[in-house]
Amino acid sequence: MDKRSISRYAKTKYSIVMVLIFLIPVLTSCSPLQIQFANSPMLQSGIPDTVRKALQEEAAFKHADLLRKFPYPYEAMLAISSDADMTTLQEFEEYHRFLNTREKTANGIGLGLDIGDSTWLYIANDTPEKADKDGHPADYSMSYFDRVNPQKLKDAEKINHYFKCGWIDSLHTFGDFSRNDHAIRFRRDLAISALKAMNDSGFKPKVWINHGSESNVQNFGGYNPKRVTKFQGGDDPKSPYYHTDLTLNCGIRYIWNSIGSEKFSTDDPLFPVNLRDGQKIWGFHRYTHDIANGKAIWTWEPAELSKQITKSRLDQLVREGKYSIVTQHFGKGSNGFPFTQEGIQSLRLLKTYDDNGKILVARTSRLLDYARSRKYVHYAVAELDGKTYINIASIDDPIWGTSIPSLDEIRGLTFHVENPEKTILLLNMNPINMEDIQQNNPGQGGRKSISIKWFKPDYTDYTKT
Ligand SMILES: [Zn+2]
Repeated sequence: MDKRSISRYAKTKYSIVMVLIFLIPVLTSCSPLQIQFANSPMLQSGIPDTVRKALQEEAAFKHADLLRKFPYPYEAMLAISSDADMTTLQEFEEYHRFLNTREKTANGIGLGLDIGDSTWLYIANDTPEKADKDGHPADYSMSYFDRVNPQKLKDAEKINHYFKCGWIDSLHTFGDFSRNDHAIRFRRDLAISALKAMNDSGFKPKVWINHGSESNVQNFGGYNPKRVTKFQGGDDPKSPYYHTDLTLNCGIRYIWNSIGSEKFSTDDPLFPVNLRDGQKIWGFHRYTHDIANGKAIWTWEPAELSKQITKSRLDQLVREGKYSIVTQHFGKGSNGFPFTQEGIQSLRLLKTYDDNGKILVARTSRLLDYARSRKYVHYAVAELDGKTYINIASIDDPIWGTSIPSLDEIRGLTFHVENPEKTILLLNMNPINMEDIQQNNPGQGGRKSISIKWFKPDYTDYTKT
């Protein structure tokens, strides 16, 4: 029962008893501010039954495509998707303070960009390479558990914290199982322990990114007997490393299936992936390398950032109106702060496109959620008494099924309308609060529109909270 339903009930001639039954829990759980809001004229007006009926009719779903491609005013979207290889907690905190906050840092004022990251739960990597400038070994890297021991937590508390604030939104598989001795350290029971810990703590990223060499048999979604990905066992019910029967129930919605791309941008980041156990999941494209003389030149390490993000690429992205997911390994080097002066310049340049309303920089999960909602939103339109009503009924996802989205899942959706001031946006027949609505009245030439507001910028220094 929500506040608007309460006010509708109160308006009808239901008995006093009915009203009290519904009001008591609300009055005891709401702050005074919310009660005042529930009684505001805007919400008391609710939506008339005639509007409700009109929005439920089949004809209301037969409308022109009103959706703008990207949240107003942006012309493109970009995410940086970073793999957790050899990232220590201290490195993670240092470079995310620089990327996400507006704090004074040793490398200048922070950028204030919405950039997420990945992590894992286990480390079994036997590389002699050092994880950081202090010479720590690979298993010092940030991970939920200590090495491959699910009985012993390592950075679990910090990982939960950074997941909740959004600095981590991806899982780089269950762990780093790359081995020079080619031994296989992943086991199905490690997946079971990992998923239990994730369920118990709420650390449940939607994004899965495959990792590493052929010892990483937990990888899935890119199996091909003729390619290097033939070792993938995560989605093979006959394999002892099978786990997607459990993993897909834990909230993983999107995967990078190990197939890299030389394309910096894409019209649609999502594509369906058929798993070997008969399930389906969304795959997503990531830019990972360039091609020179027929050879792949991998650009996914921090030293190459200025080759990945250039003015001409950003201009082209805007001109073509596309998505870009740029792959990185922010924490991979062992020299401390990962970015060169040129890399910092590229990031500051990217920030200007974000500030100028050209390219919306968003963490990977938000970009993918937006692309999914934009593509599969099912909405009805009705005109009544000089007003336009748009009701977002559901997301009809061909893989995950039909669901009523949360407000966060529809943030950024922008509808072209004649008169934004006289348009009412509803979610599942409930008017969306005005504080979450943005009316767009561009000057000459531009089309008027109405949006569900994008996420507020968050520059909080979460290393201190
Ligand atoms: Zn990796």
